[in-house]
Amino acid sequence: MSEGNPNNHLEAVLQNTLPPNDFRREHLDTRSASFCGAKWYNATIWLGSGMTTSCHHPLPHKIDLDAIKNNPKALHNTPEKKQQRCQMQQGERPKGCEYCWKIEDMGPEHVSDRVYKSWIYTNEELTDAFTKDYNEDFDLRSLEIAFDRTCNFACSYCNPAFSSTWVKDLKQKGAYQDLISDGRNHFTHPHDSSQLFKYGEHNPYVEAFFKWWETDLHKTLRQLRVTGGEPLMSAELWKLIEWFEKNGDKSQTSLAINSNLVAKKELIERLVNVKEHLPSLGVYTSAEAVDIPAEYIRDGMVFSQWWDNVQRLHEADIDTHCMMTINALCLETLPDLVQRIMQKRKEYGGNRFCVMSFNILRFPSFQSALVLPDSIKLKHVEKLKQLRNAGLDFHEFELGQLDRLIEYLQVVDKPHSEGFDMPRLHNDFKQFYTQYDIRRNKNFATTFPELEEWYESI
Ligand code: SF4
Repeated sequence: MSEGNPNNHLEAVLQNTLPPNDFRREHLDTRSASFCGAKWYNATIWLGSGMTTSCHHPLPHKIDLDAIKNNPKALHNTPEKKQQRCQMQQGERPKGCEYCWKIEDMGPEHVSDRVYKSWIYTNEELTDAFTKDYNEDFDLRSLEIAFDRTCNFACSYCNPAFSSTWVKDLKQKGAYQDLISDGRNHFTHPHDSSQLFKYGEHNPYVEAFFKWWETDLHKTLRQLRVTGGEPLMSAELWKLIEWFEKNGDKSQTSLAINSNLVAKKELIERLVNVKEHLPSLGVYTSAEAVDIPAEYIRDGMVFSQWWDNVQRLHEADIDTHCMMTINALCLETLPDLVQRIMQKRKEYGGNRFCVMSFNILRFPSFQSALVLPDSIKLKHVEKLKQLRNAGLDFHEFELGQLDRLIEYLQVVDKPHSEGFDMPRLHNDFKQFYTQYDIRRNKNFATTFPELEEWYESI
């Protein structure tokens, strides 16, 4: 593979003004009905557990420790992904990409992430992926990496695999009881396999990453996104930033950081100060509700602090993004959050403040918006339609995702779960939040009065 020139790439992508469905028809479907550039050029890698996946939707799989000893590219080019590339070249659907197939099966006008995650690559790159031997090692263009799971939050839809605060909760208070749907295992054990190495211990996956980074990756990657845990609490993130401070002129890689942005003021200011040493810096944060409901869903969130910090970063000319995880509890105040963001955009001028993505929660299934009664879902559909048509200055991409969410709430009648069974999901919804309230000193009924009657009836 040629390494390509990031600037040429940017030009090529900026020239791509095709609407999403036209892009799919012209650049994906002409190759195969299941082709997706993310399988070749994008990866998420968890270095604490030695796991990887293509984008964040398919379930992660193990990286072979022996393979990375001599070839750090094996952090991404695993036998599993090579097999799935082969399937995509032949137009077969890899099972792990069910998230996309489910959206696409809603009808040809529905746009899945297969499109959004492929259109950042050039036509030449997509041709290479489709025509070359699926066994070949490919260089990454976009990478999301987690160094460890240290995190000061324990969000309701997260679990101990991604948060040390969740680990503490389970170790101190024991497993959640009486959960019976597919989401139960998230909350029954501390997921020790997610952090194979203790703080300060030698981690061969981290070693392989820095080896690959220093030799090739800093030349081929266009975007490196660091996730966690909470990356601002990870020593490895600051090691990477120090590399940029010393070698920033050698790399065109844009650095993006996923952060809950409820960090000490000193860390936020340190981030603001390193911006000048980096080719580019963006921060992806998360919220999908406002005030007390936001703090209920994302335990650890201090909404006012989060909101101040998003503005602080924007004012320091750092790109800010808000990744929403659309779940059963956020729909009531989601429009309020969107309106607050749009109001700030107006005040700042332009539409760069807090670019939004509306991601639909899949697991744990019992927290999906689809577990809500039809009458409540339809009420939210109407509110979302009003928001969508209010003449606000949305990005095209945001409108596409909002449309997708509206359709999803209307058309899909069951959560992404092979063992789908609504009574089981309702059981777990009630069991989980009853125990969550006690453990976290929260109150479902007073936080979500609009759901109280239904909740009590479960
Ligand atoms: S889940 Fe969708 S976007 Fe992700 S790799 Fe599969 S097809 Fe591509």
